Amino acid sequence: RQSMEVCNQFVADFEKVIKKPKKHLSKTYYTGVDLGTACVVLAILDENYQPVAGAYRYADVVRDGMVVDYIGAVELVRELKEELEQKLGTELIYAAASLPPGTDELDGGAIKNVVQSAGFELTNLLDEPTAANQLLNVTDGAVVDIGGGTTGISILENGQVIKVADEATGGTHLSLVIAGAYKFSFEAAEKYKRNQKNHDELLTVLKPVIEKISSIIIQQTQGYNVEGIYLVGGTACLKNIETIIEKVTGIPTYKPTNPMFVTPLGIALSC
Ligand code: ATP
Repeated sequence: RQSMEVCNQFVADFEKVIKKPKKHLSKTYYTGVDLGTACVVLAILDENYQPVAGAYRYADVVRDGMVVDYIGAVELVRELKEELEQKLGTELIYAAASLPPGTDELDGGAIKNVVQSAGFELTNLLDEPTAANQLLNVTDGAVVDIGGGTTGISILENGQVIKVADEATGGTHLSLVIAGAYKFSFEAAEKYKRNQKNHDELLTVLKPVIEKISSIIIQQTQGYNVEGIYLVGGTACLKNIETIIEKVTGIPTYKPTNPMFVTPLGIALSC
């Protein structure tokens, strides 16, 4: 519980510096680069590992950890890097990045090349749940990262990740359901879904997909002693998603105030 409060404060500080970067002298800066299916996030920490700036952009350059538009990804990371360098009045050198669990053999090289080609020196490449846990500090339980394309589940025991799984259901599927139900284009459905004002109304339409995500969690945690589920990832921003997941799984479910920035900040902390 206490670590959730620390996590929430850290994310709140990050949200503030996204709007208004903290321009002060730091010997060095650490950048977390989160190349997601729906969103690319850069989180900048100072020498004391405190948030000083950040930026994010919705983009279609990576799908489930696979770089599908290499040039586009490099340009976007470089653009965000330059934007933040200008705001901070300094050069950003060191960066860490992450991958969905189990994809390192497939695409670890491409992610690494994107970050390096954008002008960073890559200091660490770790899997997403391990990154998120740098901030969550879960010692026993399951970190569930509900992103755009997939839901990643990692089970921790005594602070060690003992199992990881990544299943193909995430925010994209929710948007497809909204597009079908409201006769919206996919883009319009995405936008509608991200507006918190629509969340109460959307929950009824989205309940079956959230139940499906819950059944994936049940399947993947079966046989393990999971006493708590910790939600991260952009899709976990959906209001009351935790209530449905807790009800279906029967496992106490916690989520930070803004679950979308936990992984990028965790990546930066690992830099
Ligand atoms: P993946 O982890 O699957 O590669 P990703 O890293 O891009 O994807 P995130 O950035 O964690 O994933 O989450 C992106 C998803 O979160 C998208 O489907 C997006 O529509 C959804 N999302 C973002 N903000 C909100 C919000 N406020 N409410 C509901 N969904 C949201």
